[in-house]
Amino acid sequence: VELPIHEAVLGRAAEFGELPALIDGTDGTTLTYEQLDRFHRRIAAALAETGVRKGDVLALHSPNTVAFPTAFYAATRAGASVTTVHPLATPEEFAKQLKDSAARWIVTVSPLLETARRAAELAGGVQEILVCDSAPGHRSLIDMLASAAPEPQVDIDPVTDVAALPYSSGTTGVPKGVMLTHRQIATNLAQLEPAISAGPGDRILAVLPFFHIYGLTALMNAPLRVGATVVVLPRFDLETFLAAIQNHRITGLYVAPPIVLALAKHPLVAQYDLSSLKYVISAAAPLDANLAAACSQRLGLPPVGQAYGMTELSPGTHVVPLTAMNDAPAGTVGRLIAGTEMRIVSLDDPDKDLGTGESGEILIRGPQVMKGYLGRPDATAAMIDTDGWLHTGDVGHVDEGGWLFVVDRVKELIKYKGFQVAPAELEALLLTHPAIADAAVIGVHNDEGNEVPRAYVVRQPTAADLSEGEVMMYVAERVAPYKRIRQVTFIDGVPRAASGKILRRELREHT
Ligand code: ATP
Ligand code: MG
Repeated sequence: VELPIHEAVLGRAAEFGELPALIDGTDGTTLTYEQLDRFHRRIAAALAETGVRKGDVLALHSPNTVAFPTAFYAATRAGASVTTVHPLATPEEFAKQLKDSAARWIVTVSPLLETARRAAELAGGVQEILVCDSAPGHRSLIDMLASAAPEPQVDIDPVTDVAALPYSSGTTGVPKGVMLTHRQIATNLAQLEPAISAGPGDRILAVLPFFHIYGLTALMNAPLRVGATVVVLPRFDLETFLAAIQNHRITGLYVAPPIVLALAKHPLVAQYDLSSLKYVISAAAPLDANLAAACSQRLGLPPVGQAYGMTELSPGTHVVPLTAMNDAPAGTVGRLIAGTEMRIVSLDDPDKDLGTGESGEILIRGPQVMKGYLGRPDATAAMIDTDGWLHTGDVGHVDEGGWLFVVDRVKELIKYKGFQVAPAELEALLLTHPAIADAAVIGVHNDEGNEVPRAYVVRQPTAADLSEGEVMMYVAERVAPYKRIRQVTFIDGVPRAASGKILRRELREHT
């Protein structure tokens, strides 16, 4: 299928017609498929009339709203590449992204308008700031619906033209602009579909942000392509989230590990009727098997499934198919999707392929591998070798059944006296302690020059007396001596990115 992304997603919109495509989870505003299809075409025409040309970069700066997908598909239909922006970005951070991507257009929402204005001033080069809702002095997408401009005839080449320009999370360094073509995104959707296929009548809760590639794919493109209904929430708040599941009879959840943690442990969960749920899928960061089991048992659901991917992979390569959730081994991130190749290679010798059960770096080759990092040929060459293999920087192994297990990132492994310790394993263990609400582990250098695991621990509100010694002892009783926690710091909350990833850089600054 060589279709531009808006056609790959909205190809069946006419057929779904009056079915709700999007519902605002807080005020109930609804957009049908017929409206989504008509509105995005109208706005594409108005954008073209405004001067948006093929190859222009348009920055979409918005929390999850009912209008977000309309803005996205209108922009790609007009020929633009959409760079999605974190709604909580500071003007400086936003300006960096505008400058780096040479964006000419901004689409924002009125509450964020000041940030967008300031960012545009700092960056320069932005021709116009449009708003999705309405704001004095700015044209809105609502005004544009009235445009009588003809539909643009843009000649999009799905193979080479960039549809989306998301920035990687910046967990391990500066966020980089990732060029994803129409074909890369559309192919990945088709590859994932047999495993996750929903359809009309399914209701997906979009609480993870659309601006991140996980939300963009799992919560926007994938469900809209098959006629499911997407209920949107602008941010994660446990009570609103639980109420939305109950009131909108949500059938499927795509979340990140911190939400699985809340579902497994938080007392509020028991006060809501979550019986409409059929499955929970987690991705974006390591999820411990015990935590996953605690969550599914509490909700009376099949085991929490996982998916694995990264921005640079459009984004998916592995998923536990919905039909295999009961059979997949605990802790797996899934099986390789069709049309994709994987190798596991030695961390010491990248030319050495490893066998079943042996842990090494995960390498991926396939049609979903990004076109490259924008303006960073060196970084692209460091990531994708000359044979087309993308080096994920993640450590994992595969079992006899072909199920992949992700251990952690290569860069996060703590090297203690020649041994390798995965923070994710220690974090999972810490979370099994009843007095621990949340935890993160990093490697720090001690007085003897050894890198050792330090735990940052958030106590349960009822466990103010939990001591450092008790935390260390709890771990020491359960792991090999080289994995012991050597330092403990109590904190109020673990810093996390919007996608749920632990921000270890911030922890390093916090001693
Ligand atoms: P940056 O590349 O800018 O440092 P990032 O790698 O966090 O940021 P993303 O592309 O959002 O940016 O995240 C991809 C990473 O998320 C993967 O490389 C992997 O480390 C992690 N990840 C994704 N899914 C899973 C999963 N199911 N289990 C464990 N880790 C996962
Ligand atoms: Mg990365």
